[in-house]
Amino acid sequence: MLTHQAYPTIFDPAASGPTRPSVLVIDPSAANRALICECLRQLPDIQTVATGDGEQALQIFRDAWPSLVLLDITQQHTNGLELTQKIRAWEQSSHEAGVSRWTPIVFLSSVTDEDTLAQGILAGGDDFLSKPVSEVVLLAKVRAMLRISIRQQEICEVHRRLKEIAILDGLTGIPNRRHFDDTLQVEWKRCLRNETPLSLILGDIDFFKQFNDIYGHQAGDSCLKAVANSLSESIFRVEDTLARYGGEEFVAILPGTDADGAHAVAERMRQSARDLCIPHERGVDGQVSCSFGVASTLPSAESGPQHLLKTADNSLYAAKTAGRNRVILNLE
Ligand code: GH3
Ligand code: MG
Ligand code: MG
Repeated sequence: MLTHQAYPTIFDPAASGPTRPSVLVIDPSAANRALICECLRQLPDIQTVATGDGEQALQIFRDAWPSLVLLDITQQHTNGLELTQKIRAWEQSSHEAGVSRWTPIVFLSSVTDEDTLAQGILAGGDDFLSKPVSEVVLLAKVRAMLRISIRQQEICEVHRRLKEIAILDGLTGIPNRRHFDDTLQVEWKRCLRNETPLSLILGDIDFFKQFNDIYGHQAGDSCLKAVANSLSESIFRVEDTLARYGGEEFVAILPGTDADGAHAVAERMRQSARDLCIPHERGVDGQVSCSFGVASTLPSAESGPQHLLKTADNSLYAAKTAGRNRVILNLE
């Protein structure tokens, strides 16, 4: 059994490294906290954070996001079940890329009746340990729970990464067509609600088939990457999105931007691609260039974004037929 010893509360969530497992100990008794922390020290590389106050525990949980919580639920000062529910609610609300984290919560309780156990599990707890706790059992439980917690964090990280990859174009690293389609729907609705304009810019590399024919596909891929990068650097607002629309075509969504503003952005994009000075013997004046079609509208409930896209496409076609390396704007 654990014996009573004086032990200072370890209270340094900021010191917890991103990969170092941490245990949050919540117990109103300083002596109990000291005992548990002392015991946990036997595990290698564990960070312990301890408190006797429920509100403070919640704050530490939010700031430090521990790998495991050991919570005394028989205490007077904190309502353990309520605190557990708050922790679960916080986890749900702060999900990342659609995945909520789940931190194991182990109750320490001197009450061992079945109702208390059932209520604890319903509130969001994962396991019970009866007080007084044997050191061997505590260490074994903590080891097992940390194993689960660490695997779960790894899965969350992989999931987040996969979600990131799913919206990016493999060659250029900018958002892909699928992300564009989703974003256009969202921004259309947002601009409709806010009664603000929405503009689209469609861009297309000029004479790119001939570029591939002359310099080869690898050079074509490098050119695509360089152009994507230069176009992306021409977009300054965080709410704007540049995506690869397909092949050698790019599209920018500019929420809250009117026709004049969008025309200015497209002109900046055209110039930045031109400033790359990539030689193209069949290109406009011997260099790679892009043509741009711009469309702008005030979204209405009667229409949808497809018409705006079609207008931008018509503008792009007009820019091509007018000689390329230019921007043409059509109002809806
Ligand atoms: P225009 O000035 O009218 O746009 O002529 P263009 O040659 O650019 O247009 P076209 O649609 O005839 O040809 C597009 C070319 O883009 C054909 C295709 O080989 C090339 N392309 C599309 N995607 C890729 C890619 O991922 N890598 C490379 N290297 N080339 C690509
Ligand atoms: Mg094209
Ligand atoms: Mg082209």
